[in-house]
Amino acid sequence: MAEQRSILIVDDTPMQLKTLSKMLSSQYDVILAQGGEEGLKLAYENNIDLMLLDLNMPDLSGFEVLSHLKASEKTKDIPVIFITGSESYEDELEALLLGAIDFIRKPFVNAIVNLRVELHMRLIEQMRIIERHSLIDGLTGANNRRCFDKVIEREWRRALREKEWISMLFIDIDKFKVFNDTYGHLNGDACLKAVVDTMQHVVKRGGDHVFRWGGEEFAVLLPNTAIEGAIIVAEELRKAIAETPIKCDDKNTYVTVSVGVGTIIPDNRDYIKGVEVFCTKLDKALYRAKENGRNRVEQIIK
Ligand code: GH3
Ligand code: MG
Ligand code: MG
Repeated sequence: MAEQRSILIVDDTPMQLKTLSKMLSSQYDVILAQGGEEGLKLAYENNIDLMLLDLNMPDLSGFEVLSHLKASEKTKDIPVIFITGSESYEDELEALLLGAIDFIRKPFVNAIVNLRVELHMRLIEQMRIIERHSLIDGLTGANNRRCFDKVIEREWRRALREKEWISMLFIDIDKFKVFNDTYGHLNGDACLKAVVDTMQHVVKRGGDHVFRWGGEEFAVLLPNTAIEGAIIVAEELRKAIAETPIKCDDKNTYVTVSVGVGTIIPDNRDYIKGVEVFCTKLDKALYRAKENGRNRVEQIIK
């Protein structure tokens, strides 16, 4: 069963909270906050899918709550619907300009609030599906390069903060052009899928990621991993791929990969530059693995 969506309702009037909660709790996981301060706190602490926010509250106004939400990475994307007794069109305009997705006036008609909430939930769901698809490579099901850009930014900043190692592998299938020329492009595609399946089987620690970098090139990100561990993973991958049979025209064939491996503790450099320099070193290590005979692992030189 799909996970139940959560709605945070923020209002200073207990009666209002009760009415809305009664309306929505059969379909959603409803969290209640009596006032702006409590609403903000609960928004930080929980994974909220949608927020219903009152405008006039004694501690923090709805506008102040929304401004705070927008200022924090964790809460900036929470969709907010104002639900308010204000009849002012200036308030409605300001709410929408601040980034609210809807503005409902009290007294409201239950059925209309229900339908609007349902509509927004459907849109949120669709946005999430599109976002998930945009991060995945259609052929192999691996994370794509766009996903890498997102993940590396997060991991790089975390490693910088925590002074932790990040390890990474660059992986390139050996003589893949020959494979395509021999077995055809469709078998080539099947081979790419088989290689990704094997990689995902080997790299299964939570927090590790496999990416299709492009063509027959892949990257594996191993956060909180020192070089010794990364070399073990690289060797395991190399060996597992070399031993994975790939069915082409009813007979089994095999491919090998070359791997460049390296580890870094990010320093203060801006992360885009830092990642670029690190990737260039990994590329060079991979190139050495090719030069030294392929089907092998080489480390970066500091
Ligand atoms: P090396 O050992 O030096 O890496 O040699 P290589 O032949 O693997 O390298 P090269 O870069 O010359 O060729 C890469 C090949 O990968 C050429 C290209 O047709 C193939 N390729 C890239 N993307 C795909 C894909 O999505 N499907 C298939 N079937 N082939 C692909
Ligand atoms: Mg290549
Ligand atoms: Mg290649």
